[in-house]
This record gives sequence, structure tokens and C-alpha cells, in this order.
Amino acid sequence: MSDAQDSIFSLILSGKIPSHKVYEDDFVYAFLDINPLTRGHTLVIPKEESPTMDSLSEDSAASLGRVLPKICRAIMQVTGASNYNLIQNNGESAGQTVPHLHIHIIPRYSDSDHSFVWNPKSINHLDAKDIAESIFTLIK
Ligand code: 5GP
Repeated sequence: MSDAQDSIFSLILSGKIPSHKVYEDDFVYAFLDINPLTRGHTLVIPKEESPTMDSLSEDSAASLGRVLPKICRAIMQVTGASNYNLIQNNGESAGQTVPHLHIHIIPRYSDSDHSFVWNPKSINHLDAKDIAESIFTLIK
């Protein structure tokens, strides 16, 4: 995966590649996915060149978080979908194909057939206690 600066989304941000814009402010851009899973499938990206969530600045993260609900509401109103998935892949093995952070908003209709495979397992509480405490301490 190449750097965020080289990605197709940077070319969209700079206007070199066209897109169907649904939202824009100083920090955030949102546009329709070129290969939608369903009608209205939208990508929301920070203008900051960050490949994944862990490298995003707090200001850009705050801007993303602030506008997501209203973008979701507008998509639902326009498409008529009342359910939707938010998906955000980080890194190739997590399914990320474009190395510029993006959040998918995917409306779900009664005939939608997209699925995300989950194989949940029972939690190991000993390990859970250990990892939760370690993460908590690191963030603090
Ligand atoms: P990822 O697999 O990285 O989570 O999702 C990348 C998404 O970007 C895919 O759903 C793909 O269809 C979309 N995409 C890739 N290239 C373009 C493009 O040039 N224009 C638009 N609008 N979407 C793109």
C-alpha cells in the first residue's frame, strides 16, 4: 500500500479526478463510492493525508465525528433507507485498498445482500482483564 499522498482520494480532493460530492467543509470531504455496495454508498474522508485512524490528528478526528451524523441523516432521508452500516478498514489485511482514511456509509435496503463475515468466539476474561488494563493505562 502506498502513502496517503499518492492515493486516488488525494487526486479526488485536489479535483484532478471527478467525484460525486455529497459534503465538504475545511476538514472533511464526502462522495459516492465508485463501486457501491448499495445505492447511496458514501465515503467520508478527512482532508488530512492520513492512511489510517491511528495516525489521524485529533482536530481531523473531531471534524469527522461532528459531521458523520448529519451525513448519515441526509443519506437516509434521500435514499429512504432506515438502516445502514458504517465500515472503516485500516491496513491491507483489514481490507483497506485505498491508503487514505475513509469511512464507508452503506445504506441497507430490504433486498440488500451485502454481508460482513464475523466468527465471534467466547471471551477469555483473564486475557481480557490484562489487555483492557494495558490499553487503559496507555491511553490515560
Ligand atoms: P476500502 O476497501 O479501502 O475500505 O475501500 C475503498 C473504496 O474506495 C472502495 O469501496 C472503492 O470502490 C472506492 N474507490 C476506489 N477508487 C475510487 C474512485 O476513484 N472514486 C470513488 N468514488 N471511489 C473509489
